[in-house]
Amino acid sequence: MDTEGKLIILADAAKYDVSCSSSGSQRKNPSGIGNASLGGICHSWTADGRCVSLLKVLFSNDCIYDCAYCVNRRSVDRPRATFTPEELAVLTINFYRRNYIEGLFLSSGVYKSPNHTMECLLQTLLLLRKKYRFGGYIHTKVIPGSDPALVDAFGQYTDRMSVNIELPTEKSLTLLAPQKNKESILRPMKHLTKRIKENQLEKPTWRGRKAPLFVPAGQSTQLIVGATPEDDLTVLRLSENLYSHYNLKRVYYSAYVPVSDNPLLPALSTPPLRRENRLYQADWLLRFYRFKASELLDEKRPYFDLDLDPKTDWALRNLQFFPVEVNKASYEQLLRVPGIGVKSAKRIVVARKNNIISFELLSRLGVVIKRAQYFITCNGVFRGDKTMDKTRLRHHFLAERSKFTSYGQQLFLFES
Ligand code: SF4
Repeated sequence: MDTEGKLIILADAAKYDVSCSSSGSQRKNPSGIGNASLGGICHSWTADGRCVSLLKVLFSNDCIYDCAYCVNRRSVDRPRATFTPEELAVLTINFYRRNYIEGLFLSSGVYKSPNHTMECLLQTLLLLRKKYRFGGYIHTKVIPGSDPALVDAFGQYTDRMSVNIELPTEKSLTLLAPQKNKESILRPMKHLTKRIKENQLEKPTWRGRKAPLFVPAGQSTQLIVGATPEDDLTVLRLSENLYSHYNLKRVYYSAYVPVSDNPLLPALSTPPLRRENRLYQADWLLRFYRFKASELLDEKRPYFDLDLDPKTDWALRNLQFFPVEVNKASYEQLLRVPGIGVKSAKRIVVARKNNIISFELLSRLGVVIKRAQYFITCNGVFRGDKTMDKTRLRHHFLAERSKFTSYGQQLFLFES
């Protein structure tokens, strides 16, 4: 098979790997321009906020494992292909030279064995970095069960590495991905955490030359949502744990795409995209808004409200904390106000050193007044409707949102 034939198979096989914050579209377009369901190029964000286009491809979809939720599992009869390291390196560098891509998102099925696959991936990186002197962004997946020495070698040539957890509990892993286990996933993740920390602490060496970078964009993981019975609380607790103990940069949530009629999997007609979206919003609250998972959900209420974003939902369940006076509230209190985001909370804290904050100024600072007004006072003035209790406020916000979503299903990802 020629390289183009392999690319068609292996770019398509990679489309269920999440590297950006949305799941694959089903919209096909065989005759016109553009086709949202095709794999190939995806986008990711670097640590400084730049959006980069990446060639998203598998090294091989010839997998010896049989994870029930995966289109590439060995028991599926589908075309198989495997690049050689040279083929993939040349393909990447040629796409880069033609300005199609700025980097590479490289994953793989388990081809022959975890270590053999990692060695092939490593060869590809070495060719790219050393032979072709490619300095662009590379995000690679670690194959669970591979040798830590290979993970170490990898880390010098890649910007970000992911060890995918896929399923939130060991029980589900045993059921649906019998060749994987918690230990084979957590071991490389722990190893990466340790090595990234060591690398950050390494002092400049002789004449100020720094130690070589090791996974400078950090590590991430992916969790499939909706393939197994775990609730949102379980998923969010796991993410919280990963952020605090493994120093992860991102947890990606991937709504389960029904690709299999395996009786162990739920019979879904469409992927649970709204649930995925709520988890991304809650994840944002953990990382930037200083919320704890236990504040957002609990055993009595283990799922997110699909109609309301988690921050507004929290505010409505905790109306006793409001209204807060924007001229006096702490940064943490400001962050909890629906309509005030991280940037606007920082701007308020700076601006009020020299000004008394008014509603007009708040608006200029980026606050969404029509949402925030029910939760704040501004120099003692309250502009909301005092007669609105939790239920009426909820209806009010749902009505507001339906004005914006009546033409489609897309939700705002990061409502402040
Ligand atoms: S290891 Fe499992 S999830 Fe990964 S490609 Fe193979 S079957 Fe799919």
